[in-house]
Amino acid sequence: MQFYAVDESKKTIHATLAKKHLNYSCLECGSTVRLRGGLHRRLHFYHSSHSRTCQLNSKSMIHLQLQCYIADLLPANEAKLEQPFPAIYRIADVAWPAHKLVFEIQCSPISNQELKQRNQDYQKEGWSVIWILHDQRYNQKFLSSAEIALQKHTHYFSNMDAKGKGMIYDQFALIGGKKRLFTTEKLPVNLSRPLFFGSALIERPSLQLRAKTWSHYFAGDLFEQKDTSDGKQATALEICHLRSKNKQKVFVIIKRFLHALFIRPYRALFHYILEKSCR
Ligand SMILES: [Zn+2]
Repeated sequence: MQFYAVDESKKTIHATLAKKHLNYSCLECGSTVRLRGGLHRRLHFYHSSHSRTCQLNSKSMIHLQLQCYIADLLPANEAKLEQPFPAIYRIADVAWPAHKLVFEIQCSPISNQELKQRNQDYQKEGWSVIWILHDQRYNQKFLSSAEIALQKHTHYFSNMDAKGKGMIYDQFALIGGKKRLFTTEKLPVNLSRPLFFGSALIERPSLQLRAKTWSHYFAGDLFEQKDTSDGKQATALEICHLRSKNKQKVFVIIKRFLHALFIRPYRALFHYILEKSCR
C-alpha cells in the first residue's frame, strides 16, 4: 500500500487526487495499482496483483498511519512522503530535507544485511536514517538481531494502530543477554526537534553508546531525559546491574582459575596412581 503512484501522463500523484477504477503504476515496481479507501480508511493505492519484491506493496495500514503521523509531527510542508532516491534505488517512507533525515518504518522482520545496506545507501547520499520499529515485531521480551544491530543507530519504537492511535516512543530497558529484564514507561519522542550530542560526560553506559554511535537524539527521549529523577534512577539501576554482572564474571574466572590450579593436577595424580595400582 502507498500514498503515491504514477498516472497515465507519467506524473506522480497523491492518492487524494486519484480516481477509483483507473489504473496507475507503482513508483517502485511499475505494477498496476488502484485507489481504495475513503470514509473509514485513508485513501491509498494497492497493487492489483501481489508483488513479493516491492517494498511499497508490503506496507500495511499501520505503516501508512505512521508515515502520516511523522509528517504531522514535522513542521508544515517540510515532510516528504515516499520520497524517491533514484541514485540508490530507494523510496524513503518519510524524508525531511531541511535536516537531511530519513524516517524508515519497520513493522516486519528485517535482516541485518538489509539494515546495514539501507543505512549505508542513505549515508552515501548524505542523509541519516532514523528507524521506527513497530511493537508488532519489536520491543518484545527478547531483542531481535535487528534490534541488537540498531543499538548503534538512532531508533525508537511505536505502538500505532491501524486507525492512527498511538505514538512514537523511547523506553529504558535493562538488558541481560538478549532479554529485556525490566522496562520503564514509554517516553513520547518529539521528532520535530532533532538534537546533536555534545561533549558532556555521560554516566549511563547505554547512553554513552548512543552518544558515540547515533547521529541524533530527539526531544523527549532517554538521552534528553537523563538528568530527570527517573533518568537518574535508570542510570543507577543500569550501573548496579552491570556491576553485579561483572561480579558474576569475576566469580566464573576465579572458579576456572582454581580449577586449573588445584583440581586438574589432583585429578591427573589420581589417574596416575590408579593406573600404577592396576598394573
Ligand atoms: Zn510496487
